[in-house]
Amino acid sequence: MPADLPDDSAARTDATNSSAAGAPTADRDLPVAFVTGGTRGIGLAIARRLATDGHAVAVGSRSKPDDLDSNLLWVECDVADGQSIDQAFAAIESELGAPTVVVANAGITRDMLVLRMKEQDFADVVNANLTGSFRVAKRSVKAMMKARWGRIIFVSSVVGSIGQAGQANYSASKAGLVGLGRSLAREFASRGITVNLVAPGPIETDMLSAVADETVEAMKAAVPVGRIGRPDEVAAAVAFLASADAGYITGTTVAVDGGLGMGGS
Ligand code: NDP
Repeated sequence: MPADLPDDSAARTDATNSSAAGAPTADRDLPVAFVTGGTRGIGLAIARRLATDGHAVAVGSRSKPDDLDSNLLWVECDVADGQSIDQAFAAIESELGAPTVVVANAGITRDMLVLRMKEQDFADVVNANLTGSFRVAKRSVKAMMKARWGRIIFVSSVVGSIGQAGQANYSASKAGLVGLGRSLAREFASRGITVNLVAPGPIETDMLSAVADETVEAMKAAVPVGRIGRPDEVAAAVAFLASADAGYITGTTVAVDGGLGMGGS
């Protein structure tokens, strides 16, 4: 085994290989990855890419998708609820083994100008996007420490650094992830666990289709590359950060934004 690949045998449970209906048959020699919000958009692209790269992949969301790739294990997981996260991890540990790659991707928006924004609108977005990522990272890290190898990747956003009118709650949650990620990077570096972020610009997903056409056109005009990004382009950056090759990279933010933020974080 190459020096920088996980020996996660210690992190695996001794549960049997029996799979729930529709779940992939576990190959317990594969490293396990978990992607929150992995049923659509960017999360699904990340899950597919990690599976292609040789991981056994679980995806978590609140609602069960009608059809999901047969090689992905779906678990119910609401990142706004610590108990739901705990149950999701227990199910993954039992079916596939403990994840050593965890991508906190689930996120929501509740856009409006701040004068109309209720405190609850602010709190709910921060609870899902920022506190949810904290919960997921915290729940995942024990098994990674046991394995002395781990990759935690937070999905932030370019608006976390440049701001966005109408997204005070969302921008604050995404900026908060940078401080969270850097702090965890410092806490866990000596354990072989890296913690990094990707910060996408506008990406073609359901989240973007909720945005008015003229706003999307304005975004396109503002992006130096001149187009909206694709989920697989974010997935490629995540896949690199999750790889053995990225072992000397921690506490950093990789922008996948067509130049919109010019590397600021
Ligand atoms: P989508 O809205 O297309 O998908 C969101 C995914 O997250 C779904 O699988 C959804 O499933 C899940 N999800 C939402 N809330 C929760 C929750 N509380 N617990 C668990 N899962 C949840 O989003 P995108 O793919 O566009 O975005 C993915 C990430 O990328 C987000 O963090 C977003 O902020 C970030 N991002 C997106 C950009 C874009 O332009 N699209 C730009 C920059 C960042 P379900 O509803 O069933 O729970």
